[in-house]
Amino acid sequence: MQSALPAQYQRKPQKHVLLIFIDGIGIGTIDPQRNPFFSSNPPFLNNLLDGRLPSLRNRFVESAEALCIPLNATLGVQGLPQSGTGQATLYTGMNAARIIGQHFGPYLYSTLKPVVAEHNIFRRLHAAGPTKMSTAFANAFPARFFDYLEGHRKRMVAGIFAALMSGVEFRTVENLKRGTAVSADLTAQRWKDIGHPEAPVITPYEAGRNLAAISRQNHFTLFEYFLTDKAGHERNRSFAETVTLECDEFLRGVYEHTNPASTLVLVTSDHGNLEDLSTKSHTRNPVPALLWGNARHIIAPRLKSIVDVTPVLVDFLNG
Ligand SMILES: [Zn+2]
Repeated sequence: MQSALPAQYQRKPQKHVLLIFIDGIGIGTIDPQRNPFFSSNPPFLNNLLDGRLPSLRNRFVESAEALCIPLNATLGVQGLPQSGTGQATLYTGMNAARIIGQHFGPYLYSTLKPVVAEHNIFRRLHAAGPTKMSTAFANAFPARFFDYLEGHRKRMVAGIFAALMSGVEFRTVENLKRGTAVSADLTAQRWKDIGHPEAPVITPYEAGRNLAAISRQNHFTLFEYFLTDKAGHERNRSFAETVTLECDEFLRGVYEHTNPASTLVLVTSDHGNLEDLSTKSHTRNPVPALLWGNARHIIAPRLKSIVDVTPVLVDFLNG
């Protein structure tokens, strides 16, 4: 139905949270031989943080416009943190590794599925308050993903499962063409190899601009990026530096198109990996929580571990 009101009078969210999940980035040493954040010198992040990227020696960074704080990702469980339990924890506020007694991934451990279904951030925001909050999962998915959903779909990562269980729309190549979704690789250059030569290839900066526009339309927006974890496992320096610099350009695009008075941007991860190319496995390092915009000084002190992310964001949007 067409709204009777002109667009500028329609009710839009007054505050927004944009959660950018970047798989497998921890806070590591300043050693450029190990840590691509220090060998590639990402210009946007360096500028945002006054030239002080976080390291194990300087874990907390505050600049005029941003805060970067360390989050514990070990969940109080021995062994190396994994994506399944880490992402389930990030998106629910429940300690998924404690629940199953181990770190597990990359897919969701079966007994965690009901936990994610019930406690995920989308669902908590839909249930909160007198009016349902608008949420978005900004990633675009190819046709073969929808085929997979129609099948047995046993293997699920936490973010997709959370969205699926909460009735959140999965965006398609049509959204990608209109700029109303963002490819998991930012540029969509891989889409020609997965059955979609029609997907427009854009720059990481343009992907950031598009994500900022999606965020303006919703109370809560999630975007997930995984190539950082892949690069960490491969221990390929050139690939690691490329994804670091692409993320940097992407974040610059987000930054330059979000209003810091109304939007809180939180960039975080599930476990360390990329920051230490001396090992192909994950690390027990803390993960960064980079915050800029609305209320970062209120949010940051409440964030100690990845288990805190969902409850803090839900409280903020409800407040
Ligand atoms: Zn991961």
